[in-house]
Amino acid sequence: MENCIIVGGGISGLFSAIIAKEHCDNVTVIESSPHCGGLLRSWKNDDGVIFDLGTHIPFETQNDAINRILFKGMYDNPDLWTTMKTTKVSNYFMGKHYGISQFIPLQYLTEENYKNALVEILSAPGMEMDQALNFEEYSLATYGQTITYEIFKPLLKKIQNAELNELHPSVHSFFSLNRFIPGDAKLCQELKKSAVYDAKLAFATFNEGVSASSRFYPKARGIELWVKQLVQQAEDKGVVFKTSAQIKNLQQSGMQVCAVELNDEEILPCDHLIWSIPPIVAIKQLNIPYQGITPKFCPTSLHHLVFDQPFIDKNYYSNIHDWNCQSFRLTMYPNMDSGEASAPYSCTVEVLCSVLKDKEQLKSIIVEELKTIGYVNQNALVLSYDVIDVPFGFPQFTTGFVAEKNKQIDLLNEEISNITLIGKASKDQFFIAGVLQETYDVLNQLFN
Ligand SMILES: Cc1cc2nc3c(=O)[nH]c(=O)nc-3n(C[C@H](O)[C@H](O)[C@H](O)COP(=O)(O)OP(=O)(O)OC[C@H]3O[C@@H](n4cnc5c(N)ncnc54)[C@H](O)[C@@H]3O)c2cc1C
Repeated sequence: MENCIIVGGGISGLFSAIIAKEHCDNVTVIESSPHCGGLLRSWKNDDGVIFDLGTHIPFETQNDAINRILFKGMYDNPDLWTTMKTTKVSNYFMGKHYGISQFIPLQYLTEENYKNALVEILSAPGMEMDQALNFEEYSLATYGQTITYEIFKPLLKKIQNAELNELHPSVHSFFSLNRFIPGDAKLCQELKKSAVYDAKLAFATFNEGVSASSRFYPKARGIELWVKQLVQQAEDKGVVFKTSAQIKNLQQSGMQVCAVELNDEEILPCDHLIWSIPPIVAIKQLNIPYQGITPKFCPTSLHHLVFDQPFIDKNYYSNIHDWNCQSFRLTMYPNMDSGEASAPYSCTVEVLCSVLKDKEQLKSIIVEELKTIGYVNQNALVLSYDVIDVPFGFPQFTTGFVAEKNKQIDLLNEEISNITLIGKASKDQFFIAGVLQETYDVLNQLFN
């Protein structure tokens, strides 16, 4: 193949570019921002402290060929990276901190709800996800009444601002809510011997059931180092990057996109188009008649703070499942240091779907939550506080959103024969590992 154009320079676009260059003479990545990386970019405050857009800790996949591309930077420059064997995560639920797992401990429910939840989850008949009309139906069949209405209902209202019967059956998996801790370590180990229970119950600690994969985080902090190393790898192979570039027109010949015209009038010939941004953008560019609903996103704000002292919680991050809190997830960067955690004691709190419009009020609530929950000392001083809004962060993962996206993907695949949809244009994947495995599989099919 002569000319391959990749639209979007996020992680999936970069990964595709490196693979595509093995098979195509000319590979060009078109990125609308001045820098590649998408949601894996990092941000520096006025004091030079680096923060990420949420928690991003890459980990090795089961596929060596994928690892060799993705983690070349880590394997070639181990001195720049901290390598971790487990992902240390805590969580906060029903007003209590659980320091050794990201999953909700059912024993933190009231005594009556705990008993009911346990009986129901163990006796639930189960259901194939693709048979369920919505999340409520799936959850009742998989987890039972108590978990559905006493946990999922208020929690998903907090982080998705939607009712259970509006949400897609897979929504919980985006938020580490697919498994629950049923009790003490022994009970978890016993119950998880059954494959059925294993799928919906968690071990009591993150030290059990750990895969052999390495996890990585830059020693100098800021996951954007990964992006920079991938861009370098792609450039070394001859991939061309067009940043700050806007697509003006997708030129079509029959069922093929034959050229991509940029805003600066440059025309790039195209034999194959790899599309990693929302499919609706291609539909509009190609003037394909389409009527659909506009997807809703959960307004996300990222709260980047620096404290004057180390965190009490020593985990990498924490899921704040308690629906009385505004915070959704806390990333504690110094805890990923290779030795003793060192200053700056920086963290990022993600807030989803908050109804609070007053930023100052939200800021003081966040600091109060971090202290009350016990992530930092009560007397800790905030040295800096910045808020960044991510308007198109997490989608509201409703059945309507998924149906709409799938309709758009099917339409594009029917109308255009030389397009491959990956990343943001994927039917099923959201998290990095899933997105990249899927990208690898479709490109393997395309090129071999
Ligand atoms: C708040 C948040 C937290 C997350 N946390 C995690 C996590 O903990 N673990 C995990 O595995 N995943 C997480 N994810 C998901 C993860 O970020 C995605 O899987 C990953 O970013 C997908 O990469 P991508 O390349 O498909 O998309 P993106 O990262 O969105 O990249 C798309 C790129 O395309 C560019 N672009 C957009 N429009 C155009 C255009 N018209 N022309 C050219 N270029 C364009 C963008 O600028 C961007 O660079 C999180 C997502 C969010 C929103």
